[in-house]
Amino acid sequence: MSKAKVLQMGVAYAQSLLAFHADRSPKPFSASFAVTNKCNLRCVYCNCPLLKIPELNLEQIEQLFGKLKKMGVVRLGLFGGEPLVRKDIGEIVDLAKSLGFFVSFNSNLLLYERYKDRLDGVDYFFTSLDGTPEKHLANRGKHNLDVVHAAMNEIIRKGQKLTAICVVTDADFEGADYLIDLAKKGGFDLHFQQECYDAENAGRSAPDGIEQSRIREFWHYLLKRKREGAPITSSEGYLKYITTWPDFRSTAMYDPTTKCAAGRGFLFVDSSGETYPCPYTKGIVKPVNLMEVEWADAFDPNTPCTKCLVGPMLETNLLFHNPVSSVMAAMAKV
Ligand code: SF4
Ligand code: SF4
Repeated sequence: MSKAKVLQMGVAYAQSLLAFHADRSPKPFSASFAVTNKCNLRCVYCNCPLLKIPELNLEQIEQLFGKLKKMGVVRLGLFGGEPLVRKDIGEIVDLAKSLGFFVSFNSNLLLYERYKDRLDGVDYFFTSLDGTPEKHLANRGKHNLDVVHAAMNEIIRKGQKLTAICVVTDADFEGADYLIDLAKKGGFDLHFQQECYDAENAGRSAPDGIEQSRIREFWHYLLKRKREGAPITSSEGYLKYITTWPDFRSTAMYDPTTKCAAGRGFLFVDSSGETYPCPYTKGIVKPVNLMEVEWADAFDPNTPCTKCLVGPMLETNLLFHNPVSSVMAAMAKV
């Protein structure tokens, strides 16, 4: 990232931080936009493809991005569903880049080859690998994993940043070791996130007989591997936080002694423009239609939960609760 971009991101984040701690009007520096809910996979832990949600057209997306920019957003995550099932995805990326956003892109990469020349503006790719090939296919349904690896190699060859996300559905130590070796050889990073339960976007509830102590042991193991130098991009603060989570059957909880930065520091826009503090709150809180209303006017600072295991949200939330250590860790990666 250029120094100018780092500075721009730092200023936007500082404004968000101030708004959060001083309970001021929201100033989110980061937004995620689900360009579609459709997907070419059916992962066991995801309900997105089954939700029937209309999609904004390009003109509406341009309006939306302009609004996010005016609100102070500098980091824009494009995801889905699977964003590459939209034929106009190249134009959507171009729109985001023309407004100067730092663009991250979450994709299963199965359609990457079709659009690869339209994705050069993407600053950061996220894809998914759930452990050994057998485990990955069991979680994410039958598909050609070689296509995913070929796309990953191409992204790395082009010099774009890439992190593979592993959704932790059980304490699969063998799968974690497999991924760490693969990432070392392939030149990409890994992020681990606990499976989410009981949300509109989530595919299922916690299984009976979940092995709490083994899952905790697994997160301790990831922390140890990170400290030994494994290419795990999840922060130490994040990994430590998960080791202390009281009950892995619950994804989120309300603790009145703390507050969440969702809505003030970051937000989530679904494919129709309905906006929520974060993806997990979809179906729980009343959405705000960002195409019609100003977020600052309609925003409710009282999130339904204040602590959670929702991977990317937890990591971003920690930026607001432990700003010094989180920023130091982030700077080390720039
Ligand atoms: S997790 Fe991603 S790839 Fe899997 S079904 Fe959901 S949107 Fe599709
Ligand atoms: S604690 Fe905050 S980020 Fe986490 S699910 Fe609740 S509202 Fe979303």
